[in-house]
Amino acid sequence: MTWREIVVVGGGLIGSLVAFTLRRAGLDVLVLDSGRPGAAWRAAAGLLTPDGERLHGTPLYADAVDGLRRWPALAAALEDSGGVAVAFREGVRRQQSDGRCEVTAGEASLHPPSVVAAARSGLEVIHAHVSGLHAVPGGVWVQAGEQGWHGRHVVLAGGVWSAALGVPVRPVQGQALLLRGPVDLGAVYGPPRRGFSRYALARPDGVYVGATARASAAVVPDARAGRWLRGVARELVPGVTATPAGTVLLGLRPVTPTGRPLVQPHPTVPGVTVATGHGRHGALLAPNTAARVLALVQAGIRA
Ligand SMILES: Cc1cc2nc3c(=O)[nH]c(=O)nc-3n(C[C@H](O)[C@H](O)[C@H](O)COP(=O)(O)OP(=O)(O)OC[C@H]3O[C@@H](n4cnc5c(N)ncnc54)[C@H](O)[C@@H]3O)c2cc1C
Repeated sequence: MTWREIVVVGGGLIGSLVAFTLRRAGLDVLVLDSGRPGAAWRAAAGLLTPDGERLHGTPLYADAVDGLRRWPALAAALEDSGGVAVAFREGVRRQQSDGRCEVTAGEASLHPPSVVAAARSGLEVIHAHVSGLHAVPGGVWVQAGEQGWHGRHVVLAGGVWSAALGVPVRPVQGQALLLRGPVDLGAVYGPPRRGFSRYALARPDGVYVGATARASAAVVPDARAGRWLRGVARELVPGVTATPAGTVLLGLRPVTPTGRPLVQPHPTVPGVTVATGHGRHGALLAPNTAARVLALVQAGIRA
């Protein structure tokens, strides 16, 4: 059995960008992904908006601003390496309750499925469902049913499914709507209503309207959420009544008990670094998380 230097469990927004960053640092990296329905990255809007998400004054703000600062260079590196455009775009508008709009300084958006595709394109990715992580002399045995891999170091980035591998995360389901039709909209936040963020943005695959949040692991669309989203679309997207019904997107955001991501050694399995629990901010925080995981892995290699 050959040993891999790094095995990353989960190739979503966090796992694929961690793997891309470790690979660029010259490490040998294998990614295992089980293609779970309900993976958050497939449903994510792609807003990079610390202020739009009202993070100012929260413990997440510094990492969010750092993530935003790192995104332009990371987006360029992703595009250079794989030839996949990630649709990184600066400029987000905020609509006031009187209808006036202001552009927020420095905020941006991108297309999460393209980010994952671009990151994965230069990596070795194997379809496998990891069922166990076991410390062994010299590293970790990563078990996937009858198969398995030895990793000198393992990064656990399985989103909400990291819970089955010993990490305290729970799902917060989000539903969104993808409308067809080229609308020159950019990205716009509506005025929050009853605490919910309402936003719409033009992406390469259509106009994205989002998003709901409820404590649930269900991966089937909810009709009531659909009605709410169509109401948001009518308010924020000009000419939407002429647009066909659209596609429903559904994803499970991984949320920790404290609301802060876990980027740290695994609580019980030595040799495993956990990178999950990014809730509604995984795209925004991913470059910061990737840099932190690289530092932890390099420190582990030096020790
Ligand atoms: C509706 C919605 C809108 C969002 N909008 C934004 C936004 O605008 N901006 C923002 O910053 N964030 C946004 N998010 C949040 C963002 O999507 C998440 O924080 C992020 O995707 C979490 O990344 P992750 O890699 O931890 O998990 P995921 O993206 O869920 O990926 C986990 C991956 O691990 C794999 N996996 C799981 N278990 C195993 C296993 N046992 N073995 C192998 N592979 C496994 C899965 O197949 C999956 O590919 C949104 C989320 C939702 C649902």
